[in-house]
Amino acid sequence: MTYSEKINLFIKTKTDDPKAFIRVFGCQQNEADAEKICGFVLKSGFRFVECEQESDLIIFVTCAVRHTAQNKIFGHIGRLKKIKEINPNVFIVIFGCMAEQKEICEKIRLHYKFIDLVIGSKSIDAFPKLLCEEITGENYNICEKIPEEMPVKRKSNFKAWVSIISGCNNFCSYCVVPFVRGQEKSRSASEILNEINHLVKKGYKDITLLGQNVNSYEDGKICFSDLILEINKIKGDFFLNFMTSHPKNMNKEIIDALAESPHFGGRFHLPVQSGSNRILKLMNRNYTKQKYLEIINYARLKIPYLTITSDLIVGFPGELREDFEETLDLIKLAKFSSIFTFIYSKRKGTVAEKMPDLTPHSEKISRFNELANIQNSISEKIFTKEIGKKHKILIESCQDNMALCRTGGGVIVKIKGKYSELLGTFAECKITSAQRSFLWGNLI
Ligand code: SF4
Repeated sequence: MTYSEKINLFIKTKTDDPKAFIRVFGCQQNEADAEKICGFVLKSGFRFVECEQESDLIIFVTCAVRHTAQNKIFGHIGRLKKIKEINPNVFIVIFGCMAEQKEICEKIRLHYKFIDLVIGSKSIDAFPKLLCEEITGENYNICEKIPEEMPVKRKSNFKAWVSIISGCNNFCSYCVVPFVRGQEKSRSASEILNEINHLVKKGYKDITLLGQNVNSYEDGKICFSDLILEINKIKGDFFLNFMTSHPKNMNKEIIDALAESPHFGGRFHLPVQSGSNRILKLMNRNYTKQKYLEIINYARLKIPYLTITSDLIVGFPGELREDFEETLDLIKLAKFSSIFTFIYSKRKGTVAEKMPDLTPHSEKISRFNELANIQNSISEKIFTKEIGKKHKILIESCQDNMALCRTGGGVIVKIKGKYSELLGTFAECKITSAQRSFLWGNLI
């Protein structure tokens, strides 16, 4: 008997309609983990509901990347106490990166005693066993984990995440991910290709290869550029994307493979983090501003329709005005379509935690605003140039009188009108006007 069958048998003795609730915080990797967990929970006889109060099982998938996010999650966890008081039979599980940190587990053990089970992201394979033992109250040793081929419960029926690598070996000095997600581990290419083939046959239109550092993918036989070349051979009509990639592992072979791809939509998210070589060194990023610009210039040369976006950290410990000006210079040269900017947030256990950080917070906010203003005018110019152009778009959601769509490059296009019958399909549109972060268009 499998873990899911054991849970199923047990839970049906308590209720004939077991219900589960899941809340996901953080990145796409967490979304992908949550899809696996949902697949297992469904197999165990539960159905998902939208309301925590109605549930017999509550699962939080947590994120540890930013301190503020972590505090917010604790706020949500705290509110579960009331639910447990009203319904002491509910099982509450905290899963994810937060649960990988010793001090967080200790805090939960001491102050959140109503939590039944805490499982770190690295232990996702043990999720069935741990959940089964918690729910049934017995110990089992069944040789079953969440298998690669297990049908995940995907949130969408036209957009899919496909995990290709987990963990990270980079140890950027500000980041907790290598501690909470562990060493890089690539899935085998044949499993990935099978999954993509299967998704394409089922009609999925947008496939994103997922990992903390996708471009260091290496399954012992093939690397990331080879994997792209293999995916290029898959027949079907779909956008291929990937996230997140590291500039130090981005190379000409990968860009050439993308340029050849009939599926690559043109979305190129390459987090640069800073334009100052001194700060990049302190961050342990292992590339320079010049090297970064070389890569994106080569990419633009080979793939002229690229939409390049990036992540930047403002106010890293020791960042001087001249370092920040290097960052401003970089964004002017790189001409990103958009950027995700964060003010540096100290994370326990990282190298940067111990670095002297003398820049006042007010100065960091002012740099953040200055960067945002310059980027806004760059984005506005880039988007204005789109007016009159035609794009293949995927219709991703439909509201009362408007469809929200996305180009292959990931840019949002809003189309006025009722198009719910076209949800999840490709269409062609002509751009009619531009805002700072999205476009307006008409279907052709
Ligand atoms: S590459 Fe750096 S920032 Fe990205 S997950 Fe790894 S350590 Fe964190």
